[in-house]
Amino acid sequence: MEYVDKVSTPCYVIDKQLLINNLEILKYVREQSGCKILLAQKAFSMYSVYPLIMQYLDGTAASGLYEAMLGREEAGEGEVHVYSPAFKKDDMAQLVRICDHIVFNSPSQYKLHRAAVESSGRKISCGLRVNPEYSETEPEIYNPCAVGSRLGTVAANITEEDLDGIEGLHFHTMCEQGEDVLERTLPHFEEKFGKYLGKLKWVNFGGGHHITRDNYDVEALIELIKRFKSKYGVEVYLEPGEAVALNAGFLVCEVLDTLKNGIDIAIVDTSAACHMPDVLEMPYRPNIIGSGKPGEKKYTYRLGGPTCLAGDIIGDYSFDKPLSAGDRLVFCDMAIYTTVKNNTFNGMPLPSIYLKDNDEIRLIKSFEYKNFKARL
Ligand SMILES: *Cc1c(COP(=O)(O)O)cnc(C)c1O
Repeated sequence: MEYVDKVSTPCYVIDKQLLINNLEILKYVREQSGCKILLAQKAFSMYSVYPLIMQYLDGTAASGLYEAMLGREEAGEGEVHVYSPAFKKDDMAQLVRICDHIVFNSPSQYKLHRAAVESSGRKISCGLRVNPEYSETEPEIYNPCAVGSRLGTVAANITEEDLDGIEGLHFHTMCEQGEDVLERTLPHFEEKFGKYLGKLKWVNFGGGHHITRDNYDVEALIELIKRFKSKYGVEVYLEPGEAVALNAGFLVCEVLDTLKNGIDIAIVDTSAACHMPDVLEMPYRPNIIGSGKPGEKKYTYRLGGPTCLAGDIIGDYSFDKPLSAGDRLVFCDMAIYTTVKNNTFNGMPLPSIYLKDNDEIRLIKSFEYKNFKARL
């Protein structure tokens, strides 16, 4: 990775070829199964590569007005889908001008906004998000079927009349999971909602399908989608976020100082809290190129960011050589749920964004003081 010493840190580097590798797999699933696949923008909204992504996918999925606008503006002719647990009236007035699919969280939301949709003069396909009350997702914070969940409507609260005007059902219950989990989830969905599908046009299986990871059973997914489509005569949509840019980006940072307090500590110019919040939320330990688990290599360090948060710790890593100020470290799998979740807590700068295209490394975005000030 020759670019590591050329970029200014901290920065994200998105690798175009790695992105394309993922997109080829997703396109293969689309073509073989006949389903449609959307980019869930909440995971990855680097719109400079939307024209590339749209050569492989059918459109974008949005979590609200702004993502829907971004999809409409930057994803060419791609379909624009939106879902939110609840829409504001003002937002709906704009959404009906740009969306192809609008997925409502409850029959009451649909009733509230139905007139706006129908008076839009545009062909909009309305859907309802349902809760199949089955999910293998842990921890609780990522489980849309947790007890008392607000996400989607449970079967007991839906009647035939509620579906008048509705063309599709949507469920999203998975997170970083394989085809086997979808296969175990579908019977729950079918048992509760299968009876409605005869009158509907589509079912959206949501995101969380880790299709582009190494051991994902792509062929089984294709077969499952084909079976489902022919059984119910509906269009099937998937809207993965992670799978689109999985392992396609890196975060390059620099060591600022090392110190000791029982253990060896290194402070770097990137922050878990600001630049990779899922490290703390999920939580997980991102890989660093050339590093090992604690104790595996000779020199072990706890890496932390320069913010005041005591818990701004990225993790413990070991290296062949001692770290010193100026050393650069490269974190892996930093394209997803990073740039979209960045914040400027402590006045931390936002990392620049680069695109690696073959041997060329191109600066896409850089940020400065005014970006911090403008938000406050
Ligand atoms: C989060 C989410 C997605 C994308 O999930 P990934 O885990 O990134 O694939 C898709 N649809 C909905 C409704 C979501 O909430």
